[in-house]
Amino acid sequence: MELWYTEKQTENVGMTCKTKGTLLRKRSPYQEIVVIDTEQFGRMLLLDGIVQTTVADEFVYHEMIAHVPLNAHPNPRKVAVIGGGDGGTIREIIKHDTVEKAVLVEIDAEVIEASRQHLPEISCGLDDERVEILITDGIEHIRQSKNTYDVIIIDSTDPVGPAVGLFTSEFYGSVYEALKDDGIMVAQTESPYYEPEHVRRTFSNVNTHFPITKLYLAYIPSYSSGLWGFTVGAKKHDPAVMNREKPQALKTRYYNADVHKAAFALPEFVRQLVTP
Ligand code: SAM
Repeated sequence: MELWYTEKQTENVGMTCKTKGTLLRKRSPYQEIVVIDTEQFGRMLLLDGIVQTTVADEFVYHEMIAHVPLNAHPNPRKVAVIGGGDGGTIREIIKHDTVEKAVLVEIDAEVIEASRQHLPEISCGLDDERVEILITDGIEHIRQSKNTYDVIIIDSTDPVGPAVGLFTSEFYGSVYEALKDDGIMVAQTESPYYEPEHVRRTFSNVNTHFPITKLYLAYIPSYSSGLWGFTVGAKKHDPAVMNREKPQALKTRYYNADVHKAAFALPEFVRQLVTP
């Protein structure tokens, strides 16, 4: 008998994968956490039925959410990740020699535990000595941090449940205050194809606070429509440019200098979403 898993990406479209089995299924105080093994994408982390990351294509998302802001900053030393409990973004951040401290602020300890147990190739950076893990609400942590971080990466679930507040103008105002005076933030901001209004609104919320706001794109096969948006807000440095004082060779599979620049080239329908 064949078993297939479907993520309903819209009311009318689903992505269906042939599965080899279920490795974990539990309910935390925040969400249902599932890890399944699939033929096409390997092991897959699902939260409330939504694909968070897969062993096969996670490199695209994690490299693009980490290396674009870190290479746009001249000298990133202190970095925060809000959400990101699977650990993939942390794994990429600690590839940067300049980083002295990477703080992971995840609301749900059980996501970290699930990833440590079932996705070791993604969570492997969590035990690095530069990493601090805080189990708390990222909104509160950022509200209480002033002039603290060089880069803040918002690696959240979709805007439901505890993640709703991570997409608001008020939160991006707190992010601005939590950054140093040449700081940069980035947030995963969903599919411009299926969620155009969300992309437009989130971009506008970031733009309310940051003098430089840009959207960049990456192709992530397991995410809705494959076309994924990241909104970046910078106080001083153009995020489309690699501004590192001492550029560093990074071992990557998707990200490189050409991709950094090209990711900011927007198809016309996306450009219109973020053009006033
Ligand atoms: N790459 C993923 C994506 O785009 O779907 C996101 C990965 S990561 C698993 C998302 C994490 O954000 C979840 O583990 C969730 O618990 C966490 N999260 C949601 N709201 C949060 C909040 N307010 N503070 C901290 N973490 C939060």
